[in-house]
Amino acid sequence: MTSHDKVRKATASEGKQSHVSLYAARVGVYPKAVRGPVRTVKWGVLAFCLAVYYVLPWLRWDRGPGRVSQAVLLDLPNRRFYFFTVEFWPQDIYYLTGALILAAVGLFLVTSLAGRVWCGYACPQTVWTDLFMWVERLVEGDRNQRMRRDQGPATVDKLWRKGVKHAVWLGIAFWTGGAWIMYFADAPTLTVQFWRGEAGTAAYFFIGLFTFTTYLLAGWAREQVCTYMCPWPRFQAAMLDEQSLIVTYQPWRGEPRGHGKRDGSAAAGLGHCIDCLACVHVCPTGIDIRDGVQLECINCGLCVDACNEMMVKTGQPKGLVTWDTLAGQKARAEGRHEAFRPFRPRTLIYLAAMAVALLVMGTALATRSHIDLAVQHDRAPLFVRVRDGDIRNGYTVKISNKTQAPAEFALGLRGLPGGVMALAEQSGAPAPSQVLAVDADSIGTFRILVFGRPTPQAGGSQALDFMLRNIANGERTTYASVFLGPGGKDR
Ligand code: SF4
Ligand code: SF4
Repeated sequence: MTSHDKVRKATASEGKQSHVSLYAARVGVYPKAVRGPVRTVKWGVLAFCLAVYYVLPWLRWDRGPGRVSQAVLLDLPNRRFYFFTVEFWPQDIYYLTGALILAAVGLFLVTSLAGRVWCGYACPQTVWTDLFMWVERLVEGDRNQRMRRDQGPATVDKLWRKGVKHAVWLGIAFWTGGAWIMYFADAPTLTVQFWRGEAGTAAYFFIGLFTFTTYLLAGWAREQVCTYMCPWPRFQAAMLDEQSLIVTYQPWRGEPRGHGKRDGSAAAGLGHCIDCLACVHVCPTGIDIRDGVQLECINCGLCVDACNEMMVKTGQPKGLVTWDTLAGQKARAEGRHEAFRPFRPRTLIYLAAMAVALLVMGTALATRSHIDLAVQHDRAPLFVRVRDGDIRNGYTVKISNKTQAPAEFALGLRGLPGGVMALAEQSGAPAPSQVLAVDADSIGTFRILVFGRPTPQAGGSQALDFMLRNIANGERTTYASVFLGPGGKDR
């Protein structure tokens, strides 16, 4: 009998029966409110996650006049990502790759240490579902009231409560969708534009989309997302071993379960489990932790609080349902004690991988260039012979100024003795170098004409380096190109 079958049996009063079919009808889950230290921690994590999500786009960050003043902004039209003091350009995409690798390995590490705590505490599906359930409890009451009302006829009381609940859910979902698009544009400006009907179609579309998905996934689908839609439970088992901390029921202590007083007489022969089903009734995924490790368990630990409350009430030691390792449980069942071992080969490998990724990313960030140079040789004509016998080549030079202030750059040449350059369509005389100004956080594009003579042995094609230097801070970069002459060809 699977855990779901048992829960179906245990919750038969909920009136939902499966039939013999390959299709398994959803068992209605009516999680009961619970109090305790685990629940308090879970509320704290929920409040923190929601605060970060909703508030972050509204944090201002002064980057100077005329510059974006939002601390976190994904500016897709201008292809920039601002994160407090750091600004990423499209060329910096590998930082995103590094961050994703870091997050993935971090998740592997946390899972191998403490099971699915990400699922139970910080996953957006869990956080918003918890919030929606809280609203549901406020409006419709706790488990028994909700079950009674759902099974009863459509009364005015039932209808107004359902109406209010769905209205609040939709409000939260709308707020969630609205907060999401604030990460992609200046939040105050977009808010005003939105309410005036002046925002872009994409803004209205994505708010609508995220409102709908939040309402659907957190309000209706709930635990089904974790059980059927999310791939993570399927392969998280690969990160778990017998030393991973998971929420577990201690059968060696609880069995044989049964009702009755635990005063050492009437209940003689019974274990500590009084079969009250409190652990089942608070479970957001509707499973029975006493059935052992299950795919549906998100390790939220609410059953720990529920069972501890029952243990206190019946005068028994807490911790019948607890956080423990499988190895620890096996040892305890045999009367031994086995300490939790956080440092084991797999966690050390994850830690090492994270340290390497952090080191590489940190070094790359600390030493990353704030200027970029790209040079494109003219395709036609490849070169022009000018009056004094010199050869002239044309180039398009692009200078990226990734600093947050306007900057002047000195562009010079290397590899073409006697070579000079001039800005096209400007009257200035050719010179060995040119000073070029680029606005803050911008790409300056310049047409450059280079005059010189390829050395005879070069066969008409001469290697030519463009050297760029930020005059203010001395930062440099070089771009390797060619200077073409008679008999030469673009390489
Ligand atoms: S069995 Fe316990 S830890 Fe697992 S999901 Fe249910 S309440 Fe959370
Ligand atoms: S809450 Fe504890 S005592 Fe009650 S059924 Fe669950 S494990 Fe047994």
